Amino acid sequence: MQMKSGILLLLFTVIASLSVDAQKKVNNVIFMIGDGMGINQVYASLTANGSLTMTAFPYTGFVRTCSANRYITDSAAAGTALSSGRKTDNGVIGMSPESVKYVSIMEEAKENGLGTGIVVTCTVTHATPAAYYAHQPDREMHEEIALDFTVSGIDVCIGGGKQYFMKRKDGKDLISDMESKQYQVVFNQQELDCIHSGKVMALLANEDLPKVSEGRGDMLPEGTAKAIGILAEDYKEKGFFLMVEGSQIDWGGHANDQQYIISEVVDFDKAVKKALDFAEKDGNTLVIVTADHETGGAAIIDGDINRKEVKLAYTTKGHSASLAPVFAYGPGAEEFSGYFDNTEFKAKIEKLAGF
Ligand code: MG
Ligand code: ZN
Repeated sequence: MQMKSGILLLLFTVIASLSVDAQKKVNNVIFMIGDGMGINQVYASLTANGSLTMTAFPYTGFVRTCSANRYITDSAAAGTALSSGRKTDNGVIGMSPESVKYVSIMEEAKENGLGTGIVVTCTVTHATPAAYYAHQPDREMHEEIALDFTVSGIDVCIGGGKQYFMKRKDGKDLISDMESKQYQVVFNQQELDCIHSGKVMALLANEDLPKVSEGRGDMLPEGTAKAIGILAEDYKEKGFFLMVEGSQIDWGGHANDQQYIISEVVDFDKAVKKALDFAEKDGNTLVIVTADHETGGAAIIDGDINRKEVKLAYTTKGHSASLAPVFAYGPGAEEFSGYFDNTEFKAKIEKLAGF
């Protein structure tokens, strides 16, 4: 009797350990934020484009976005919730309303030896990327945020905002500071194309990048592929955490400009495709696509799927409290289905990636 139960116990232990082994490990995380990308921005773009990569992801969810002091968040408080798992007031970057610093997932990834990267189409000091490495009481403090970047240790950063590193009120030259910290600092796409490993800061515009419809080209998808290539090369063993933002979907929403919104969502989705292509080959990469909030209070009031026609109407020039959509692919993707709060991403990701 005793021996039988012993064998049974052994059998259970073997089966349990086998099923744990069978579970794929999360080595890399690519976290993609469509700023202002509500469900209607997604479906309008899907209709106009005929297809999207993000909507083919196997798991979907809805995220509550409210900030510490507002039902309707801004990108600073939402970025802080996504990066640090903590609520703060609108306008605040990476700290509490009382200016107590929050630790971001990127900082913890770095501390644990993972590679880290940021790719955006705005200035790299803008609220969403800043929430991953800076700690400042006001999102408008671009020069202080740039200074925070220089001590962040982030491996790859691609975006705009050269002026906050070079033509500063305090006269500091942050470019030479970063070069002394082994960064390869480049100012155009051709120079970036030549880099395949090592620390990189690519400041591709003085301020924000142009709209995709006004000459930005494939900067976001190509920048995403470049960042993935470098981080995968340099952090094969330890893995990496990369944040990619479709920054200007939000600006199309503020402008109530349907063409601006859709062209930016489609461009962002091309970056999602780059991430998915890598994740499919790699097998140990989790890709999460979400939004920080919705912008424009957009409604779809007419359309035709076969003719790829769609018509948006708006209820505000600002943000709304709509739930943000989530699309997830890869090991652990099922953790990001259902309804949850934007502060829950960090712990979920860290548990899966083991840091
Ligand atoms: Mg943003
Ligand atoms: Zn906005």
